Amino acid sequence: MNANTTTPAQAPLQSNPLLDFVSPARFDEVKAEHIEPAMDGLIQAAQAALGHVLTPDFKADWDSIELHLDVPVERLSRAWGMINHLNAVMDSAAFRLAYNQVLPKVTEFWTQLGSNEELFKKYACVSTDALHPHAHQALKLALRNFILGGAQLKGEDQVQYAQVQEQLAQLTQKFSENVLDATDAWFYLATRSELDGLPEDVIQAAHESALAQGQDGYRMSLKMPCYLPVMQYAQNPQLRHKLYQAYQTRASDQAETSALVFDNTTVMQEILRLRHQESQLLGFEHFAALSLEPKMAQSASEVIDFLQTLARRAKPHALQDLADLKTYAKEMGIHEPQAWDWTFIGEKLKEARYAFSEQEVKAYFPFESVLTGLFGLIQKLFGVSISQTQTHVWHEDVRFYNITQGAELVAQFYLDPFARQSKRGGAWMDDAQCRWLRPDVGTLQKPIAHLVCNFANATSTTAATLTHDDVITLFHEFGHGLHHMLSKVNVRDVSGINGVEWDAVELPSQWMENFCWEWSVVEPMTEHALTGERMPKALFDRMLKARNYQSGLQTLRQVEFALFDMQLHSQATPVQDVQALLSGIKAQVSVIPSPAWVRSAHSFSHIFSGGYAAGYYSYKWAEVLSADAYGAFEDSMTDRGDFDPQTGQRFLQEILQVGGSRPALESFIAFRGRAPEMDALLRHQGMSETVPTS
Ligand SMILES: [Zn+2]
Repeated sequence: MNANTTTPAQAPLQSNPLLDFVSPARFDEVKAEHIEPAMDGLIQAAQAALGHVLTPDFKADWDSIELHLDVPVERLSRAWGMINHLNAVMDSAAFRLAYNQVLPKVTEFWTQLGSNEELFKKYACVSTDALHPHAHQALKLALRNFILGGAQLKGEDQVQYAQVQEQLAQLTQKFSENVLDATDAWFYLATRSELDGLPEDVIQAAHESALAQGQDGYRMSLKMPCYLPVMQYAQNPQLRHKLYQAYQTRASDQAETSALVFDNTTVMQEILRLRHQESQLLGFEHFAALSLEPKMAQSASEVIDFLQTLARRAKPHALQDLADLKTYAKEMGIHEPQAWDWTFIGEKLKEARYAFSEQEVKAYFPFESVLTGLFGLIQKLFGVSISQTQTHVWHEDVRFYNITQGAELVAQFYLDPFARQSKRGGAWMDDAQCRWLRPDVGTLQKPIAHLVCNFANATSTTAATLTHDDVITLFHEFGHGLHHMLSKVNVRDVSGINGVEWDAVELPSQWMENFCWEWSVVEPMTEHALTGERMPKALFDRMLKARNYQSGLQTLRQVEFALFDMQLHSQATPVQDVQALLSGIKAQVSVIPSPAWVRSAHSFSHIFSGGYAAGYYSYKWAEVLSADAYGAFEDSMTDRGDFDPQTGQRFLQEILQVGGSRPALESFIAFRGRAPEMDALLRHQGMSETVPTS
C-alpha cells in the first residue's frame, strides 16, 4: 500500500473506504478487514512525512510543515475518527478485534508525535513575521503543548519526568482500584422490615443479589442504584446511617478493619508529591499553575476568589434551604436531623412541594416536534437553514443534514438519535472533519459533525417522545455542534472547538440548555402524544421550581469540592494532611456539619484519578459563562418573548465563529462588552439578591 504524502485529491477511487477521503465519507461500506491495512498505510505515510520534515534542510516554515506533515496526519486522524465512531455506534466482535489490534500502534504514533523533541525545535524556529494571526495562535498552542508534554526537558530532568509520569499513572490507577474494591467489598444483609419506603425494584434487586450469593434476605451495597434510593427513601434511620457511614469512609483510615487494605491516605500523599514534582520540573510553582496553563482561568488565586464569591452569594440561600428542611423535618417527627437524614427529608419535601411525574412531561415532547423546534430556533438566531439530505450512513436511523446560508453550504451533520444494541450509551458531539483551508488542494474543507444520543426509539404503537432531560441533552450536544460547525476559521488547529480552553469549551453547550427553560421556546415544541395539546403553563412552572430546589445547598457543595481541589494543588509544598485541609474548607463553606469520621476526599476520583485535578472549578466556571451569555439574550428579548436577531449575530460572530483562534476571555468580552459576572447564573437558579421568605 502506498499512501503518499502529497495530493489526496488526485488519488484514485479507493476500494478501501477508509482511504477514500471523499466528503461525506462512505460510512456504510467500512468493514473490519479495512481497518488494519488502512491504518498501517496511514501511520507509515505519517511517519515518513515526519521523517521528511525533521531533516536538517527542511525549512522551518508554517506553510511547509502544514503541507507536508499536517496533511498526512489529518488523513490518519480522519480515518481513525471513522473507526472510533463506528466502534462506538456499531460495535461487533470482528470490528472490536480489528480495532484493538491497531489501537496500540495508533496510540504510540500520537504519543511520539506529541512529545517529539526535534519537531518541537522545528516549530520553535518558525518565523512569525508574516504569519496570519490564526496560524500564529495555532503555532503558540502547538509550542505550549510540546512544553507541557516535557519536550523541552534534557538529561536528568527528562529521565525524572518520565519516571514521574509512569509512577503517577500507576498511583492514580491504584487510587481508583481502591475506591472500586472498597465499594464492592462492602455489603449488609438486611431483613425485609428494614427496607420500608424503598422502591419495589430496589428491594427486588437486593433480594436477587442475596440469592445469587446463596444468602437469605436482602443484600444492600454501596453501588449507586442501591445507595442512593436508601438515602432518599429508606424510612429506617439505622439503615441510612449504616450505609452512609460505610459510603463516606470508603477507601480510608476510618473504614471497617477488614477494609483498611483499601486505605488511600498514602496514595493521595504520593500523588500530590509527584504532581508537585512534575510541575517543578516543567517550571511551574505548583501543580495548579501547570493545570491552569491551557485553561481560561489565569491563576489559582483567581479561581479561589471566584469560588469564595460564589459561596458568599449562595450562603444565605443555603441557610434558607436548611431552615426549610429543618421545619419540614419537625413536621415529619425528626427533631435532630443527622447527616444521613438530610437527603431523605429533602426528597420528602420536594415531593410535597412540586410533585409531577416524568411520564406526564414526556408525553408532551415528541422527538420530531422537538427537532423542528430546535432547528427553527437555530435558523432564527443565526440566519442559517437546516435541511435533511441523503448520504452513506451506518444505520437506517441515522439522518444527515446540510446547514446553509443563502446558496452557500456552511456545514453538515449526522444525527444518530436513538439507543440500540451495540451502541455506546450517553450523548456526545464529535468532529468528522473540521473547517480547514487545505494546503494541498487550496480549497476550503467544510466542517462535519456527529451528534449522537441514546433516546428511546418509537415502538410499533407509539411515536418516540423525549423526557425534558433528553431535550436538554439534545440542545447541549447541538451547542457543541454549532461551535464546531459555524466556525469561520481556516486554520485547522484553532477552527471550531480545536484550541478552545478546556474550561470554556462548555460555554455554547450549556448556553443552549437555557433555551429548554424558556417558555417561548418550549411551548411551541410541545404536542401531547395522544391529544396533540400544548403543555399547560402550570406544569412548566412546577418543573422550573423543581429545577431550583435546594440550589443554595447544591451550590455550596460544589464550591466546597472545587475549593478543596484548588487549594490542595496550589500550596508551595505538597499537602501532607489532606483531611485537615478539607475540614478547614468545610468549616468555612458548608452550612451542614458533617461527622468527624467522614472521609470524602479518599474517594474523590475526579481529582485523584480522573482528569479534573485543579480543574473541578470548571463546572461552575462554565455555568457562569453560559448563564451570563444567555443573560444577553434575556436582556434583549421582546415583550412577545422573541429573541433579538442582532444578539444572535453577535454571539455567532464573537463566540461561535472564532472558536480557538483567540483566548476565550477576549471572545466573551467582545460579545458581552465586559468580563463574565455570576448574577445571571444566580438568578437562573433562583438565588437573586434577596433571600426568599417562603
Ligand atoms: Zn458538553
